[in-house]
Amino acid sequence: MAGRLRAYTRRSIMTGLSGTFRSGDRARQQIALLVFFLLIVGLAIIIPSNATSADQNPIQNSKLSQKGRSLIVQVRTVQEVNLSKLDRRPDFARANHRYLCLQMNPRGGTTIVRICFGGGKRTYRVLGVSRTSETGKVRSSKVIPAEVKKVDGLKLVATFDPRDAGLPPGNYAWRVASHSGSCPQSGPLEKPDEDCVDYFPPKHRAVYDLRPVRAVGCTGGNGEFVTHGPRGRKRVALTFDDGPSDYTPDVLRILKRKKAKATFFMLGQQVSSYPTYARRVLALGHEVANHSYDHPLLPSGSNIRRANRRIIQVTGFRPCLFRPPYGAVSSSLKADVRAARMKVVNWDVDTSDWKLPGAGSIASTIVHQVRPGSIVLMHDGGGPRGGTVDALSSAISGLRDRGYRLVTVSQLLGNRIIYRPVR
Ligand SMILES: [Zn+2]
Repeated sequence: MAGRLRAYTRRSIMTGLSGTFRSGDRARQQIALLVFFLLIVGLAIIIPSNATSADQNPIQNSKLSQKGRSLIVQVRTVQEVNLSKLDRRPDFARANHRYLCLQMNPRGGTTIVRICFGGGKRTYRVLGVSRTSETGKVRSSKVIPAEVKKVDGLKLVATFDPRDAGLPPGNYAWRVASHSGSCPQSGPLEKPDEDCVDYFPPKHRAVYDLRPVRAVGCTGGNGEFVTHGPRGRKRVALTFDDGPSDYTPDVLRILKRKKAKATFFMLGQQVSSYPTYARRVLALGHEVANHSYDHPLLPSGSNIRRANRRIIQVTGFRPCLFRPPYGAVSSSLKADVRAARMKVVNWDVDTSDWKLPGAGSIASTIVHQVRPGSIVLMHDGGGPRGGTVDALSSAISGLRDRGYRLVTVSQLLGNRIIYRPVR
């Protein structure tokens, strides 16, 4: 093939060039032709060697690791990958789909979760996730948020929450699969995993133990005093004070149904009385914060620390937010809160739900007074809270209708939650 190409090219160059040189200038013509021959011979050598490298496994190596709650997959490739040309949610049984995916096999399961790079838009912000049979038949697929980075052109690093991908903690067999989309076979393959797909590790699946993690604390406890978050984005933080109490499970049930996150400013003594509810708040992804031990006006430093000790003892989480009882602050309180590595968090929307104005009034106050970055004051303890519970669902719907996202106070303020492996 290369010989034929060379012969053909030489002939066409000679005929093509003969007219452009003057007949008397033979020496220069010969030198020029010699240079061209060398170029063509060089090309003929380069072309087949390129073809050889394309036959090699395009994945040089791959690695899995965990950081906090996130799973990180690193893939080093032989050539730079054009992410926009990859199928984010490919049909794995088809020969003409291009993909680069992490395959996770839960130990003892038959479903494979395939987490894939690429797609047309947002290639650096999302990953495709497909649940497939072992032969590649797609049972369901979706797109999850992720952070994708390309380092020095050849290394791809994707960071994502394994819970988003439907990967619970446990033991997995894994490898990274690459398919160029240029498989000579067409149509559904008998065994797509065996033909035309390159793997790393190439010969076997590696084992990874996805460890469970839990929230142990948060950043940003600098003593700052805030009543709201940044006004630039339509986010709002719902907060519940004076719990946990018998009303807390109702609040949690509605938040779960509405897929909304909130922040609970707990009293140390209530945490002692309702430890299960305090732990449930954290386990459901809400934020646990400090509201003093027993609700005195302007609590002392030791009262604040006592509440923190109890919250840590029961939930394992060290709060980085403190809300003063009655919202009352003094310079010594602020100093105590700073020393305990927390922020002082009040509010800019007061539902006055403790005055029992009724569910309609509470919901309407929230929906009409919230601005981007607002922190909303409510109560899940300290008195009858049926009105607050009844207002919650329609308040959340009303906020969403107006384009608001419900976040925890730490998310609103840009504090980071710190996660540690359980084992
Ligand atoms: Zn209170």
